[in-house]
Amino acid sequence: MAEWNDIRSLTLEELTEAVLEAGEKKFRAKQIYGWLHQKLIRRPEEMTNVPGKCLEELEHRYPFYGVKELERYTSKLDGTMKFLFELHDGNVVESVLMRYRHGNSVCISSQAGCRMGCRFCASTLLGLTRNLTPAEMLDQIYAIQHALGERVSHVVVMGTGEPFDNYDSLSRMLKILCDEKGLNLSQRNITVSTCGIVPQIYRFAADHPQTTLAISLHASNDEVRRELMPIARKYSLHELMKAARYYVTATGRRITFEYSLVKGVNDGREQAEELAGLVRGLNCHINLIPVNPIKEREYEQADTSHIAAFRKMLEDRHIPVTVRREMGRDISAACGQLRKGHIDRRSDAL
Ligand code: SAH
Repeated sequence: MAEWNDIRSLTLEELTEAVLEAGEKKFRAKQIYGWLHQKLIRRPEEMTNVPGKCLEELEHRYPFYGVKELERYTSKLDGTMKFLFELHDGNVVESVLMRYRHGNSVCISSQAGCRMGCRFCASTLLGLTRNLTPAEMLDQIYAIQHALGERVSHVVVMGTGEPFDNYDSLSRMLKILCDEKGLNLSQRNITVSTCGIVPQIYRFAADHPQTTLAISLHASNDEVRRELMPIARKYSLHELMKAARYYVTATGRRITFEYSLVKGVNDGREQAEELAGLVRGLNCHINLIPVNPIKEREYEQADTSHIAAFRKMLEDRHIPVTVRREMGRDISAACGQLRKGHIDRRSDAL
């Protein structure tokens, strides 16, 4: 499903070939690449020093598809911003900007919808519509940096979609994002979160050893994990943890585990104990996320006392753990709800 004809999905090498094929000089490729990935122009006409004929020739084969901002919400509490973007074919995706002391972090979507079916997640309720291209992932970041007028220093691929279900586009996007002739982000400032597609974890360790990996665990045994996440029926926790250990050994990097706490499902003391056993001796960090309830499902957020006890159990066993700080509480809608709300409203209007 690789439809990468968008000009911003091309690497500099590929763009150079395209420019030569269009009968232009090689230096034009660098010039154009700079406009696209450093100056972050929003329309091709803004490349003022590139001859119109050259642009026309290129645009014919490699269109410029930008995302269009449809909605924006800004938190009065902490400045967090949520964006709803429209893609050139009418699909919509959401992205979030979080402002931290260490810099601006953007959370991007990797697919329009998702087919992983995690029970508590709003992004998967309508299934997968299509993969995003590398350019569509990049442009969520570019559009936000452009709108903000400030540098985006961190990116997390934790919005709608399963990035490892769209691996080739993801991998290409990461290369362009970290290219020194582009935004030149540090690989270490990028986190990719997966529900645990095991073979891709091995690929990722080889292809992107400096990029941070987060695995959505959400359970300490296969029984509970299978109840929450269909992917757990395909790959056992044993296989998943083996891949996680491989990643840490192969890359020397710390791995993150996300664990969304759901009342009465995975928030018990025994489960904290079991989780500690799973990660024993592994260079990791556990991020506890109080589940964000969605109206389509019955799951409730774990009680504050359970969250605190769960955390303490892990701390007592010397496992690095944090409870995710809720950003933009006043504009908060669980992952994927902005997109779903928009689609529901659109179909109501038909
Ligand atoms: N598909 C990837 C990335 C998307 S979601 C993954 O599964 O990791 C980013 C994180 O938010 C995942 O850990 C996901 O399980 C979690 N998540 C999704 N919906 C949630 C909700 N309603 N409450 C708490 N965490 C949620």
